[in-house]
Amino acid sequence: NRRIVLASRPHGEPTPAHFRLEESRVPSVRAGEVLLRTRWLSLDPYMRGRMSAAKSYAAPVAIGEPMTGGTVSEVVESDNPDFPVGSLVSAFGGWQDFSTSDGTGLQRIDPALAPPTTALGILGMPGMTAYTGLLTIGRPKPGETVVVAAAAGPVGSLVGQIARLKGARAVGIAGGPDKCRYLTEELGFDAAVDHRGEDLPASLAAACPKGIDVYFENVGGPVFDAVLPLLNDFARMPVCGLVAGYNATELPPGPDRSPTLMRMVLTKRLRIQGFIVWDFSDQIEAFLRDVGGWLKEGRVTYREDVVEGLENAPEAFIGLLKGRNFGKLIVHVS
Ligand code: NDP
Repeated sequence: NRRIVLASRPHGEPTPAHFRLEESRVPSVRAGEVLLRTRWLSLDPYMRGRMSAAKSYAAPVAIGEPMTGGTVSEVVESDNPDFPVGSLVSAFGGWQDFSTSDGTGLQRIDPALAPPTTALGILGMPGMTAYTGLLTIGRPKPGETVVVAAAAGPVGSLVGQIARLKGARAVGIAGGPDKCRYLTEELGFDAAVDHRGEDLPASLAAACPKGIDVYFENVGGPVFDAVLPLLNDFARMPVCGLVAGYNATELPPGPDRSPTLMRMVLTKRLRIQGFIVWDFSDQIEAFLRDVGGWLKEGRVTYREDVVEGLENAPEAFIGLLKGRNFGKLIVHVS
């Protein structure tokens, strides 16, 4: 059983030295449990938070313990009638070949309905994040302008596509011309802006001639600075992630801009609400019905970036925080 454990906690950017590949015994199955073999491992930005001991909404990974992560796994031994040998499940198997479970949190996957890896992307946690955050907090109305960054990733790409289905104008922000072209040519975004290009504030303003009604916040940093002056009265801002700052070791240089922000909140009557996807777990059936239906009808689509081999997970994860992935980042483990 190969497993990748957290070797030490990074200060700033993680490097391969913060991870360690180990061999351990395949765990044995106790009464009521199943043995799972990891087929695909999901890599997600939140894992940077788990590497840190700072207080957050979830406990950190302990030093020497396998990194946590969502997986598509195959049941290879079973003492649980709900999960027979051979079935595919979405699980929290972590960065390792094998894991055990008593069934808690496992979901059966029907490979006849959609490719199993969609359970880690558009039909899994990232898709649910886009659906619930946009529709419950963002509430786009026809004709409004919705802006989202990290727009070529699994969360942002679905936010833009759902915004379009609801009759809104979707503007995506992404790093580089290839991702921007993908947004407009393949996903149907109305406009795309390259945050690595020249003069982001001016390009974004040009892409949003009627201002911004919903800003789905995935990144923070200079992208947020460019968005803020464009927000319309009564704009909504679901705060989903702040990936631009996940490796930050200190606050950005001054002056303190929080009074400006609070004045905007007041005068423009902004609604800013942070959320964690599991706040909306009561919407999972509606999510699977709606997004599953749109996927089947070809009204939404997705892109995956599949990396071969568990040993390559650390490098791929480090790249995720810098935009080296193009689509939902997945490791093919076995
Ligand atoms: P992605 O696959 O989109 O990967 C992250 C992307 O962020 C990178 O590819 C990169 O894209 C972009 N990025 C990185 N650094 C910067 C930067 N400095 N400025 C602008 N963009 C940057 O990830 P996900 O779709 O899985 O996640 C998107 C966001 O949603 C993350 O913030 C994540 O933490 C959050 N999230 C929150 C959840 C919740 O429950 N609240 C649940 C799931 C995700 P590019 O090349 O375009 O710059």
